[in-house]
Amino acid sequence: MADPSSSPQPPPRPLVGRLAPSPTGVLHLGNVRSFLLAWLSIRSRGGTLLLRIEDIDGPRIRPEWIDRTIEDLQWLGLDWDGEPLLQSSRREAHEAAARHLLEGGEAYPCICTRREVEEAASAPHEPLAGGGPLLASDGILYPGTCRGLHPDLEAARRASGREPALRFRVRDGAVPFTDLFLGEQPGLIAGDFVIRKRDGGAAYQLAVVVDDAAQGVTEVLRADDLLPSTPRQLLLHQALGLTPPAYAHVPLVVGVDGRRLAKRHGDTSVAHFRREGISAPRLIGWVASTCGLAPSDAEASPSDLLRDFDLARLPRDPVVGENPPLRDSL
Ligand code: GLU
Repeated sequence: MADPSSSPQPPPRPLVGRLAPSPTGVLHLGNVRSFLLAWLSIRSRGGTLLLRIEDIDGPRIRPEWIDRTIEDLQWLGLDWDGEPLLQSSRREAHEAAARHLLEGGEAYPCICTRREVEEAASAPHEPLAGGGPLLASDGILYPGTCRGLHPDLEAARRASGREPALRFRVRDGAVPFTDLFLGEQPGLIAGDFVIRKRDGGAAYQLAVVVDDAAQGVTEVLRADDLLPSTPRQLLLHQALGLTPPAYAHVPLVVGVDGRRLAKRHGDTSVAHFRREGISAPRLIGWVASTCGLAPSDAEASPSDLLRDFDLARLPRDPVVGENPPLRDSL
């Protein structure tokens, strides 16, 4: 007779990862490092790796960057399984999820402009449950102005004369989770966050959750600037009755000033290195050296690195990518 105390375990899900570039610019060293690590993590265990182009960020997206992103990945030797998925083709699924959350009371209309939120947030505020004070990853803590204020979308429109956004109602200030690389995380969440923007498009947090679930993604490896997003995404998975992936956040590539790589740090795009005659094995070799997988002057293809890959051995410090040694050979 079956032991009634042991509930049946769901069958293990096949390992599925994804590369999820946003074509808001060309691929740079930072993207190369996190995509190489995501590729190695999945490929070293025989999993499936998908490519999802996150092209919903309105005016910041340029169609030519989609092609260039795909071309750069191919040039680097980072392959994927199946056809790339354009996130913009998933609008109906995003919208259905947003409506579901609104109808279930998990989300509410918000008419605050960014400026109003900034002004309210600049007042001193009490620490949130679980510690603080906290800033959202976009640097702004939402003070909850519209929470409980508008019974429905129409009322919010009438009250403001503008199209409302939808915000997710955060009931717990923290969603602790275990990161596959960083270990135990407190998972603090800084306030209610936007899931549908005022232009009607899904916000990043919602789109990524709906699509990861629909694509059967079981493992997300990305740079640690997205760490504050993970507890929000876990909450959304839960509210939508979805099974979340496991998450691994790896150190970011930064400039010599310690800040996220940006234009001011000079051109670190893949296109730039290609133009300067740096080969893909040279570029991958340098990135692999920052992962402790090769000496800094090595040449390597992604598949050369599979054998010795071990995420646990990845150095924990951010990597300075502004002046990689491979510039010496320019
Ligand atoms: N598309 C996002 C970005 O390029 C990454 C999304 C994710 O990995 O969750 O920043």
